[in-house]
Amino acid sequence: MEQAKLELCAMMRHFYQQGWCTGSGGGISMRTGSSYLMAPSGVEKEKLQPSDLFEYNLGFELVHQPADRKRTECFPIFQTIYSMRGAHGVIHSHHISTVLASVVANSLPINNEIALSGFEMLKGVGCKNTSRLVIPIIENTETESELTERIKFCLVAYPDTHGIVVRHHGMYIWGSSVVQTKLHAETYHYLLELYRALHPLVYTNRPLLPVMWMVDQITEKEDANRTPTIGPEWLERNGIEYHFCSPDECVEVVKRYDVKSEDTMLITADVDTTTFF
Ligand SMILES: [Zn+2]
Repeated sequence: MEQAKLELCAMMRHFYQQGWCTGSGGGISMRTGSSYLMAPSGVEKEKLQPSDLFEYNLGFELVHQPADRKRTECFPIFQTIYSMRGAHGVIHSHHISTVLASVVANSLPINNEIALSGFEMLKGVGCKNTSRLVIPIIENTETESELTERIKFCLVAYPDTHGIVVRHHGMYIWGSSVVQTKLHAETYHYLLELYRALHPLVYTNRPLLPVMWMVDQITEKEDANRTPTIGPEWLERNGIEYHFCSPDECVEVVKRYDVKSEDTMLITADVDTTTFF
């Protein structure tokens, strides 16, 4: 265990030097054989010591609480990624390349994904160099923990991704081992810098409303004459930008715009039978 703690502290120093976790931003965690280790919030990253680390058992119950240290705000997100992906390492980067890539994407027609193809470095995140890599982007929230539902949604909607960008904020990256997590982190940072260099930097702080229009395919077939009232046309008519979001947020938008639920085929939360616009 001591070796793992030393390794995590060394990784944090490395990430600090790369500019991935600086100031109060970013976070790091790893799974050992019988526990999860997580760096606390609010420490000087380059000075992290093994005694500063929080330790949880594999059920995420606290095993060791370091004195005078605060649990990372990323805890529910790390927990979600470990649980849903069987990851052995998760990091949270605030590197400027992740933020600028999300700014660039926001000026493009499809603003909730970063797509790249035809580059050798794609192999570093499990793609062929001829494959099309898609990295999902979620909108930021006021607190880190509020991102958890959006992260969950992306983990289901993008089963092949090892990273999720948070607009104007940073990125979560994971791997099936600690080494793979580090390699993925290096590759994603490289690819996002490349993406940024390939596009003009246009800052557009679009007022995006979170809408995920979900159509139940079976219902649609049975009732072909029924016209959904919320969909791209309705959204455009009302001047509303839209992007992927969780079912909860979808419900929120329906409430906000007083859309009659009987006029819609919204909220069938089965992702397998869902069409995304
Ligand atoms: Zn953050």
